[in-house]
Amino acid sequence: MKKLIIISIVVTIVTITFFVIINPFFKLELINKKNITINYGDKYKEYGVKANSLLFNLNKKVKVTGKVNVKRIGKYIIEYKVKYLFKTKKLYRTITIVDKENPVITLNGDINIELFVGDNYEELGYNASDNYDKDLTDKVVVDSNLDTTKVGDYTIKYSVKDSSSNYTEVVRNVKVKEKTIEVKNVSTDYTDIVSSDTPTYINGILIVNKKYSLPSNYNPGVDNEAANALSNLQSAAAQAGYSMPLLSGFRSYETQKVLYNSYVAVDGVEVADTYSARPGHSEHQTGLAFDVGELDYGYGDTAAGAWLREHAHEYGFIIRYLKGKENITGYNYEPWHIRYVGANVATEIYNRGITLEEYLGI
Ligand SMILES: [Zn+2]
Repeated sequence: MKKLIIISIVVTIVTITFFVIINPFFKLELINKKNITINYGDKYKEYGVKANSLLFNLNKKVKVTGKVNVKRIGKYIIEYKVKYLFKTKKLYRTITIVDKENPVITLNGDINIELFVGDNYEELGYNASDNYDKDLTDKVVVDSNLDTTKVGDYTIKYSVKDSSSNYTEVVRNVKVKEKTIEVKNVSTDYTDIVSSDTPTYINGILIVNKKYSLPSNYNPGVDNEAANALSNLQSAAAQAGYSMPLLSGFRSYETQKVLYNSYVAVDGVEVADTYSARPGHSEHQTGLAFDVGELDYGYGDTAAGAWLREHAHEYGFIIRYLKGKENITGYNYEPWHIRYVGANVATEIYNRGITLEEYLGI
C-alpha cells in the first residue's frame, strides 16, 4: 500500500513536469515564409502565426511587435511572442522592402537629330524620375562623343541610377551632315562675272546672281512695294494657319561682306560659295528679297513651306532658288528665300516652273 502511494506521487510529478515544464504540445509556427521580400509600392500582408497547446488554441495570446513601413526601403523585423504556463516562445520574421523599378529618363526634343558641320549642338534637355527617389534629373550622367566639326553619326548617352542601383540609359542619335549634302551641280564659278558700275536690269527686272553683281555703293534699303507685298503674303499665310516670320531682308554690301567672310572662315571659299553670296552678288542687297519661315533645307517639305511655294506668286514673289535648278541659279535650293518681281512675272515664272535666269533668257 505504501509502495502504491509512492508510485502514484512519482507518476504525478513526472506528468506535471512533462506537461508544465517540457510541454511538448505547446507550439508556435510561422504562417508563410520567414523572410519575405516586398516590392516598393506593394502592400504588406501580416500572415501571422499559429499558436497551440494540447488543448487550446493560443492565437489570441500572441503578441506581435515591430512595424513595416512599406514606403521606405529597408529590413523590418516582426516579433511574435506567446506565453503559456511557465514557458515563452518567440519567432521572428524579416520583411524586406525593395525597389526594383528602373528610373525613367525622358528626352526633350527629337531622339534623332541632324546637324550640319559647324553647327552648335545645344542640349535639348531631359528629365529623370523614379518611383522611389522621385526626381533624379540632377543625377543624370551625359556622355557624348559628338563632334560637330566632322561628318559622322554620334550618340549622346543619358544614364541614371536610383538609390537601389536600378539603372536606365537612353540615347539620342546625332547625325552631322556636310553642309552641301543636298547640293547638285551648284555652280560656284564666279569667273565670267559681268561686273558693272550700275545695277543690271533686263526687261525692267533687276538681276543679281553669280554673274551679275551690284556696285558696292548700291544701298537702296528695303523696297516699299516689296515690303507691302510681303506683309500681304504674311497676312494670307497667317489666315491659312502658318506663321511666316521675316528672318532676313535687306542686307547692304558691307553686311554681306561680313556674313560671307564669316562663312568662309568656317567652311572655306568653295563650300561657302554654295550657300552664301559674295558681297555684291547677294539678292538681299536689292531690297527685293526676303528670307521667311525657317532657314532649313527641310522647310519646303513642311506644310508652311509648301504653302509658300504654292502661293508666293499671288503676292508677287518667286522662290528664287529652286530644287533641281541649282546649276542655273548657282545656289542650293532655298525654300525660304523669296524675291519680289511683281505678281504678273511671278505668276508666269511659277506656272512655267522656271528660274528668273530662264525667264530672262540669260
Ligand atoms: Zn536669302
